[in-house]
Amino acid sequence: MTNRVDLHTHSTASDGLFAPSELLQQAKAAGLEVQALTDHDTTNGIPEALTAARQLGIELIPGIEINTDIDGNEVHVLGYFIDYQQTALQQKLQVLRDSRLRRGERMVENLNKMGIAIRWERVREIAQGSVGRPHIAKALLEQGYVKSIPEAFDKYISSNSPAYVARYKLEPEHAIRLIVSAGGLPVLAHPLAHPGLATIQQRFPQMHEAGLVGLETYYGPYTPEQVQTIKTFADEHDLIATGGSDYHGPGIHPTPLGGRYVPYEAVERLKAAKAQRQGLTPPPFELPSPTREA
Ligand code: AMP
Ligand code: ZN
Ligand code: FE
Ligand code: FE
Repeated sequence: MTNRVDLHTHSTASDGLFAPSELLQQAKAAGLEVQALTDHDTTNGIPEALTAARQLGIELIPGIEINTDIDGNEVHVLGYFIDYQQTALQQKLQVLRDSRLRRGERMVENLNKMGIAIRWERVREIAQGSVGRPHIAKALLEQGYVKSIPEAFDKYISSNSPAYVARYKLEPEHAIRLIVSAGGLPVLAHPLAHPGLATIQQRFPQMHEAGLVGLETYYGPYTPEQVQTIKTFADEHDLIATGGSDYHGPGIHPTPLGGRYVPYEAVERLKAAKAQRQGLTPPPFELPSPTREA
């Protein structure tokens, strides 16, 4: 059976390896009917993706992924059916991307101090769009300092590695409110990642209050048992169980595009939630001022 749905994908607009139109062609070849483009802190890939999707007969959901943290542990928030043309949203995403630039440059400086000769200009060239650590990892790979992207993270740029610099400090509730303010539906990505499900469950009331509507349940490498654990929590709290591959191109994450079964019901429930909000003016949101310059 072919998987029809993939709600978590990245393009060259952030740290994916393929342009949005290439990604959509791959989605077509994989037999997908619905795909969400969820680049980090940018919606700049969406117009190209929409055009390609229309030509190929794929339904493209405009999305985003915003990286936040709880006590230094990564927590990512996906946003679906986001009004990507909203000026207020774009201004805030620009702030987040600008801070990624300064932070990336500082990580390269740290690496240089460690005697590793990679150039910031080269990282910018690799990135093209929203800069992230995978671009630095690629520069390290290119120069032969590591043999794989995961090795680059482990040795140098994961959050407990020597060259790491934190991002603009955002709590998950900030990302949730930002997505809501742009008419989008916030969904917690890969809930078993770094802080662990217990922390997420503890924090759930605040995230729910901020507007969380779903949990990414059918995520790339999760086992049936892990899926069941998240699904149980989602059902108990009437959250939409979404899912996807987190495809970035080969070599970054393990699951191929469309390589994870996601029930079509996830799409239907997202659409129903979006329809309920149609015509309502979403509450505005302001970013917190940066507590440390990232
Ligand atoms: P950034 O947004 O710059 O902090 O980079 C985070 C992104 O790097 C994540 O969204 C993943 O795509 C990728 N990433 C994080 N850890 C690893 C790892 N150990 N191996 C490969 N990619 C990773
Ligand atoms: Zn990524
Ligand atoms: Fe993520
Ligand atoms: Fe992702």
